[in-house]
Amino acid sequence: MDRLADQVEEEIREIGLQIEKDAYANHKKVIDQFTRSRVAEYHLKGSTGYGYNDAARDKLEELYAGVFGSESALVRGQIVSGTHAIALCFFGLLRPGDELLAVQGEPYDTLAGMIGIRGREPGSLKDLGVSYRQVDLLEDGRPDLEGIKRAIGSRTKMVYIQRSRGYSLRPSFGLKDIADLARFLRGCKEDLIIFVDNCYGEFVETREPTEAGADLVAGSLIKNPGGGLAPSGGYVAGKRDLVEMAAARWTAPGVGAEIGPSPDYIRLLYQGLYLAPRCVAEALHGAVFAARFFERLGYRTVPSYDAPRTDIIQAIVLGSAEKVIKFCRGIQSASPVDSGADPVPGDMPGYEHKVIMAAGTFVQGASLELSADAPMREPYAVYLQGGLSRHYARTAAINAALHLEGR
Ligand SMILES: *Cc1c(COP(=O)(O)O)cnc(C)c1O
Repeated sequence: MDRLADQVEEEIREIGLQIEKDAYANHKKVIDQFTRSRVAEYHLKGSTGYGYNDAARDKLEELYAGVFGSESALVRGQIVSGTHAIALCFFGLLRPGDELLAVQGEPYDTLAGMIGIRGREPGSLKDLGVSYRQVDLLEDGRPDLEGIKRAIGSRTKMVYIQRSRGYSLRPSFGLKDIADLARFLRGCKEDLIIFVDNCYGEFVETREPTEAGADLVAGSLIKNPGGGLAPSGGYVAGKRDLVEMAAARWTAPGVGAEIGPSPDYIRLLYQGLYLAPRCVAEALHGAVFAARFFERLGYRTVPSYDAPRTDIIQAIVLGSAEKVIKFCRGIQSASPVDSGADPVPGDMPGYEHKVIMAAGTFVQGASLELSADAPMREPYAVYLQGGLSRHYARTAAINAALHLEGR
C-alpha cells in the first residue's frame, strides 16, 4: 500500500502546485483583511450578558464581510450548525405567500425538514405558508435553464443554490457556474434573492459566491472557515439589509445583531479564519490523494482526481453497505481521538436514511478535520472530507484501504 501511495503522490504533484497557488492567494486575502481591519489583542477576548458594545464580535464580523467581499456579515459562536445558519436566511427573509426555488434538484438532506419537502412539519416553511418548488438538473448535471425560467413566477422570492455536492454524486457548482447562473436568474427576475449554501466551499477557489453575483451566503464554522479551531459557530454574509433580516431571526426583530456576547473562545474564531486557507489546502491535497488512490484500487471516485474542485468533498463509490462500514472503520481507527470507537449506521436528526459517520475529531462533528460519512443507500458511496494535514489524510486512506481488503 505504501508503494502505491508513493506512486500516487508522484502522479498528483502538478495538481498540488495549483492547490498551493490558490492557497497563497486566499491566505493573502485573509491576512490583508486582518491588517486592514486592524485586529488587536483586545479583540480576542469574550464578553458577557447582552454583549453591548462588544468590539470582538463586531471586528470578527467586519473581517468576514471583508474576506467574503460582502457588505455585512453575522458571525456567531452561538449559531450551532450550517443548517442553523441557513435556517436564519430562510426564515428571516421569506414571508407567507413567498416561494423558495431550488434549481439543482433536492437540497442537502438536513434542509428537507425545515422546508417541509416531505410533509408539513410543524414550523417548517410550508407550515408557515411559504411554498417550495424544485427544478431538477438535466441528465448531464447542468441546470435546466428552460425549466428554471418557467418555474420563476410572481411569488418566487429566493433561489437556493448549493455549491457543494453534499451527499450526492451530482457535480459541485464552481464559482464560474454560480456566476453564470446568477446572471441568468437576474435576467429572469431582477429582484430575486440569490442565496448560496456555501458549506464546504470556502477558500477552495479564490472567489466566494458573494463576489460572483450571490446576494447572501451561509456556512458552518466547524467546516472550512473555522480552520479546524472553531469549537462551534456559523456565519451569514451578503447584502446589508438581508444580513440584518437574518440577524433579526437569530435574536429578535428590533434587536438583531446588536446583542450577543462573544464566547470566551472567540480567539479561536479569529485564529481559525486566519488558518482556514492553509487547512482547506491540506484537505484538498488529501482529497486529491484519496481520489487517485482509490481509483487505482478499482473504485469510481467523484470528482476524479484531476477535475477542478469547488469544495473539499471526495466521494468514493464502494458499492455495498458492508464496504462502507469497513471503510469507515478504517478511517475511525486511524483517528487521533476515539480511535477505539466502532462506527455503526444510525438515525441522525435531519437525515432520512440511516447514516454512518467516522470522525475521530477534536471538535465533535468537525468536518474540516478528517471525517467520512455515508447515507446507507444506493450506490453506497462514502463521502470523505477534511484532514488538517495531508499526511494524516494519507495515513487514514491507507488504513481504510487495508480494512476494505480485510487486512
Ligand atoms: C454540511 C452542509 C450543510 C449543513 O450541515 P450542518 O451539519 O448542519 O452544519 C448544509 N448544506 C451542505 C451542502 C452541507 O455540506
